[in-house]
Amino acid sequence: MKHENERNEVVDYLRRMLVARLTTGSGGNISIRISGTDHFCMSPTGIGYDAMRPKDVVVMDGEGRVVAGKRAPSSEWRMHAAVYAARSDVGAIVHTHSAFAATFACLREEIPPVHYLIGFAGRNVPVAPYATYGSEELALAAAETLGRDHNAVLLATHGLLAVGHDVGMAFTVAEEIEFVAQIYWQTRAIGTPVLLSDEEMQRIIEKFRTYGQQIPTREEISPAAPTSMIAGSDSPGDEESER
Ligand SMILES: [Zn+2]
Repeated sequence: MKHENERNEVVDYLRRMLVARLTTGSGGNISIRISGTDHFCMSPTGIGYDAMRPKDVVVMDGEGRVVAGKRAPSSEWRMHAAVYAARSDVGAIVHTHSAFAATFACLREEIPPVHYLIGFAGRNVPVAPYATYGSEELALAAAETLGRDHNAVLLATHGLLAVGHDVGMAFTVAEEIEFVAQIYWQTRAIGTPVLLSDEEMQRIIEKFRTYGQQIPTREEISPAAPTSMIAGSDSPGDEESER
């Protein structure tokens, strides 16, 4: 089976997403770029995470053609393709319907720097304008709002999209931003959150960047660079050409 490692990881992280309560049922989806190409492994639609096997994971090219696998890709594959096209530094994407992030997505309010861990995403987590799930319009809105400076974006009245240089980092971004969203919700429920200044966020992002000089293993991941870790981290060696 081609790209067995990536397909295994897609299934593994979908299950982790359920365990971490970042989604319910078969909501959300995950993709992993085939290093050095515009191809990516995409979670399939219409199959529960418990029953899913690596062979069910679909391999797609940048135009959205299925190049390996028998299943249909997640209906939200366009969003993944658009982000890979816009960001060569992105190696994996985790899309969740996690409750606290989705709460702010439904309010269509960005998450501000209420806790320093927002640095995983950037200075804030912006909201992409609403568009129907699975649409090209949503794909473009998500990629544009993510821009080059963010590693996470809220999708209006929908959920969260998180990116990283690998799937471990994209998953960590999704988890940490869900935590920050919960903290933001709680602080607003009982008081007025005190936000970090632009200057302090600059310092934090710089510190994250320094950690990022060495790419941590998944087990070592603690506050790490949202941008620079990702930039230039393409790992050579596991490329395998399709067709
Ligand atoms: Zn979704």
